[in-house]
This record gives sequence, structure tokens and C-alpha cells, in this order.
Amino acid sequence: MTVTETAPAGLERWTHQWKELYEEVINTGLCTGCAGCVIACPYEVIGYKHEEGHYKPFHIEEELGLDNCGHGEKGCTSCTRACPRFRTWEPEADMQLFGRTRKDDEMYGQYRQLLLVRASDKEVHEKGQDGGFVGAMLIWLMKHDYIDAALTSFMEGDGTSWKARPGLARTPEEVLQSSGSRYTFSANTLAMKEAQEAGINRLALVGMSCQSSALPIMWKRKVGKIAKPFLFNIGLLCSKTFDDAIFEELFLAKYGLKKEEMVKMNIKGVFQIWMKDGAYHEIDLKECHQWTREGCKMCPDFAAEHADISTGGIGEDNAWTLCVVRTELGEEVMNRMIADGSVIARPAETDATAMKLLRLLSIVSRRRWPEFGDKNPSVGVPPPKKKADGTVPAPH
Ligand SMILES: Cc1cc2nc3c(=O)[nH]c(=O)nc-3n(C[C@H](O)[C@H](O)[C@H](O)COP(=O)(O)OP(=O)(O)OC[C@H]3O[C@@H](n4cnc5c(N)ncnc54)[C@H](O)[C@@H]3O)c2cc1C
Ligand code: SF4
Ligand code: SF4
Repeated sequence: MTVTETAPAGLERWTHQWKELYEEVINTGLCTGCAGCVIACPYEVIGYKHEEGHYKPFHIEEELGLDNCGHGEKGCTSCTRACPRFRTWEPEADMQLFGRTRKDDEMYGQYRQLLLVRASDKEVHEKGQDGGFVGAMLIWLMKHDYIDAALTSFMEGDGTSWKARPGLARTPEEVLQSSGSRYTFSANTLAMKEAQEAGINRLALVGMSCQSSALPIMWKRKVGKIAKPFLFNIGLLCSKTFDDAIFEELFLAKYGLKKEEMVKMNIKGVFQIWMKDGAYHEIDLKECHQWTREGCKMCPDFAAEHADISTGGIGEDNAWTLCVVRTELGEEVMNRMIADGSVIARPAETDATAMKLLRLLSIVSRRRWPEFGDKNPSVGVPPPKKKADGTVPAPH
């Protein structure tokens, strides 16, 4: 089987509304909680609780039940036009961005350059999770008048809660406040409301893989004005996010690690936690597995395959951000940033482990995509190797 060559026919007669979205995406567990549908709804009838145990859209008006929408019955289709898990989302987003669908063996999607990059500025680099590339790029885009703000992720309060919250970064200082990774979910698309209220309409989105597919899907399916302010799409490589409860139920209960005393965390084969007093802890990822957030369990996209530039931390050391430069626009900005010395870059192929991991982790995520979903994300995915006892390992 080959990947679907074209986007589905009949987009001009797109009639799918909340009813179909609920039945096919939300009720089946395919929903990632990206909140694309929430920001796209012109009637504001899709609610979203950015809280533990939720991170899912729900219908606010109950006249037709939770699984149908009165506006949808009258012809509104915005939510399904925005959903990056509805029907043939992968080839549609591919066509929009690259003019072709991915080849069967393009496990981590289509790209122009693979680079290891780090911010030249010491503070930007140090505050970044890996090489500080994302922070450097947002600051560069602001400085060169490409964007006015970025939808990104902050922490509630003074940061000791480790509760991620979507927010708008409008200045280099705010960009740096939002730097670093939190491994719980943050639906950064929701910060669109803040941008609208502030009248800002030249934006970059920083988002997990699932969020970065929402923009090209909105453009492809012609969702309308909500999609227009997005000028840059920066993706974060992602295997999963964790339930917020992991802090209390695992880190505190078993290891006595208080979140108020944590200063940094990272995932490099193990969950790494650095504490205020200088202590460093490693927790086996298998132990963390049961706190995987519901919306991640069937997600097939590790590599943020529909961003302008996708970024990750699978390099040999933490000092560099692995950048998968995908679009012409992404390449233009990357080349300019390298040329003016804002970042230092080297070919990612110099790090064989990172290259191997990128492919391997992309395959592992694709294997999670269920058989009842559209077939495209599974095309070309090699079957898992059997264990010595002849059984097949369960997907992560
Ligand atoms: C939940 C999560 C899982 C990840 N999993 C992997 C992985 O498995 N493998 C891998 O190689 N890389 C993973 N990454 C990406 C990696 O951690 C870095 O974000 C990436 O390498 C960019 O590093 P940087 O130093 O350039 O970014 P920085 O300059 O530090 O910028 C990071 C940006 O990410 C935003 N952000 C932080 N936390 C979140 C969140 N929870 N949700 C949305 N946005 C957020 C920040 O606001 C900031 O804009 C993950 C990131 C997150 C947030
Ligand atoms: S995947 Fe995103 S757009 Fe689709 S239903 Fe879930 S929250 Fe809405
Ligand atoms: S694994 Fe990452 S990209 Fe996939 S649904 Fe979860 S948060 Fe989104």
C-alpha cells in the first residue's frame, strides 16, 4: 500500500460537524487535546478544561446532547476543518505544506535540513531546555519584525507548581520566561484568545507535534480567519506528556521529591530531575508509564512532522537542539540566523545516535496509531521485532 496521493475529494462539500468529530475523534480516543477545534469554533460552544484528567474539548450547549451541535446542524463545519486527527489529516497536511504526501519510508516526515543548533547568546542557551534554539528563534522573529508574539507555555504562579499554562510571549523577556520544557500538557493554541484580546495578529505557535499539525490542517480545509495570524509553526518532538498527578503520586510519594524544590527536568532515556540543593535524580521511564496522559496513547507523530521547524533533545549532549527544518520558510529563517551568528549549527548527521533515535522513536509512535483510524500514518511502518519468547512487545 502507498500513502494516499491526494487530499480527499469533495472538500468543497465538507459537511462534517461536531457530531462527526465527537463520534470519530473524541469518543474513540484519537483526540490529543490540541484545542484546534476550540479556537476554531466561531460560536464559542466548544469548552476545554486545562486541568488534570481533562485536556479534552466538550460541547457547552446541551440542547442536542453532548454529541451534537445546533450550529453544526445548520451548516457550521469549523471544528472538523481544524482537527488534526479527523479522517485523512496526515496526507492533507502534507499536501498543504510540501505539495506531496510522505514517502512510505519517511518515518519522521518531510524535511530540507537536519541540524544540531544552539543559541549563541549565553542566557538564551542556558535558559533553553536543550540548545535554546526555540527561544533564540522567537526572539529573532520578533527583532526582525516577522511576528509580534508567540503562543507558548508558561508555568502558573512563581513556577514552583510546575503546572503548565498556555500564554502569549510578546517580548524577549517573556520568551525567556517561557523557555525550558514541562512534561505535562500545555494546549498552547488556547493562548490565541489572549492574542485576539490584545489585537495581535502576527503570531508564531510553539507546540507539541499534535498542535503543530493543526495549522496546516486549518489552512488546507479553509477554516477561515482564525488560521490567518499564524505565520510560523515551531514543533516540539514528543513521545508523550504525563498527567499532572505524576508529581504527587510518583515523584513525591515514592521518591520524596517535592515539586517546589525541583529546578529542571529532562527526558533522556530516563526521567531526569534536578533539585534546588544541587541533587540529581533519575527515574526509570517504565515507572512513569502509568501516568501517560490519555490523549497521547494513540498519537503517531513523534517528530512534529507538520511544523516549519521541529525541535528535539535527542542529541548526544543537552547543549544542542536537534532541528528538522521542513519548509522553505523554516529554511529561510534558519539560514539567516546562522548567517548573522544568532545560532551555531552543525549537520545532525555528525550525531549518529540522534539520527538513529529520530527514526526509531518515530516508528514507535506510529505503531500506536490504531487500525480503526485512517490508514496513512501506519503506511511503511515496520512491524515490531518479536521478543525471544515469540511475543510482540506492547506499544509504548
Ligand atoms: C512535553 C514535552 C515532551 C517532549 N518530548 C521530547 C522527546 O521525547 N524527545 C525529544 O527529542 N524532544 C522532546 N521534547 C522537546 C525538547 O524537550 C525541547 O523542547 C526541544 O528540544 C527544544 O529545546 P530548546 O532548548 O530549543 O527550547 P527552549 O528554548 O527551551 O524552548 C522550549 C519551548 O517549549 C515550550 N514548552 C515547554 N513546555 C511545554 C509544554 N509542556 N507544552 C507546550 N510547549 C511547551 C516553551 O514555552 C518554549 O517556548 C519534548 C518537549 C516537551 C514540552
Ligand atoms: S484532536 Fe484537537 S481539534 Fe481534534 S477534537 Fe481533539 S482537541 Fe479538537
Ligand atoms: S504524544 Fe505529544 S504530540 Fe502526541 S498527543 Fe501527546 S502531547 Fe500531543
